Amino acid sequence: MVNAMNKPSHHWSQTSSRLMNACPRAWALTYGRPSPHSKSRTVSRQHQPRTFDELLTRTMRATWRRKIEDLYQRKIWSEAYTERMFTHMVNDALSAAKMEAPLLYRQQKIKQSLKQIQVLEQSTGLRPLVDGQPRRWAYFDRLDSTEVDGIEFYAAPDLAVYHQHRWTLIRIQFRSPRTGLMSQQLEHLLTVLWALRSEGLPDHISAFRLKVIQWKGSRWQEHTLNITPPLMEQALGLMKHDVQEMTWLSRWAMADPSLSTLPLAVHNKHCRGCHHRKQCPAVGGLAQAKLRQQLELNQSEATKSLNTA
Ligand code: SF4
Repeated sequence: MVNAMNKPSHHWSQTSSRLMNACPRAWALTYGRPSPHSKSRTVSRQHQPRTFDELLTRTMRATWRRKIEDLYQRKIWSEAYTERMFTHMVNDALSAAKMEAPLLYRQQKIKQSLKQIQVLEQSTGLRPLVDGQPRRWAYFDRLDSTEVDGIEFYAAPDLAVYHQHRWTLIRIQFRSPRTGLMSQQLEHLLTVLWALRSEGLPDHISAFRLKVIQWKGSRWQEHTLNITPPLMEQALGLMKHDVQEMTWLSRWAMADPSLSTLPLAVHNKHCRGCHHRKQCPAVGGLAQAKLRQQLELNQSEATKSLNTA
């Protein structure tokens, strides 16, 4: 863990990295300016879910997490208890987010989500734990950070299971991310870097396997990733590059508090459900907002040239 007295000033998380790559303006509004209350930027800035699907995904993860904590204490949840707990958590999340979902639709989605949790437990990565087979294992909080080269980063696995002389680091994705395959793989590899830097786990890569269990719309897909020193270097390089961009964007946001010159979203799909949309120049359409921004930049460049001529 990072020493609070000596906390690095830069941080990296998948959420922050994906947001920056999707929309620099949204990133600057979320992470790019200092928050007086933040103990950790990632921890403190999680918004309420924007859609019912996002709410379900978060609740599935939260429910599964409680279930796994109890499993660690050898307390097994029955199907009825899991259903009660999940339904209760969905209803709580809906009222916290002031969101409504028609009853029948909600019941149908709850049923599907419960099935998803149940099938997850039958995956080859998790079944031995659920079946109580003798294994050393541990679970982690995704908000556990560690530090490398002055960067605080969040890349904890969900589980680490010791078997046949190696630790398998398991990451579970309740929804498939939309990022490219290569950047996803590099992000996953940061989990190994996280483990190497964490107390109580080995400090050499040959001690680890890396497994990703990902929901693919109707089924869980499991795959094991290669861990090699060059790939680890690439993953670290990707993180450092992101942090460089983030530092630059933060400076830009502080130099232009109106944020009017910051790049807007790469694609209008990112604007759908964006928390900052109401105050964004893209509220009436991304393409027009980009055009207006370009015209304003051209005008300001022309004025500068005239003044210096
Ligand atoms: S509405 Fe679109 S352009 Fe504006 S901040 Fe959100 S994602 Fe970025």
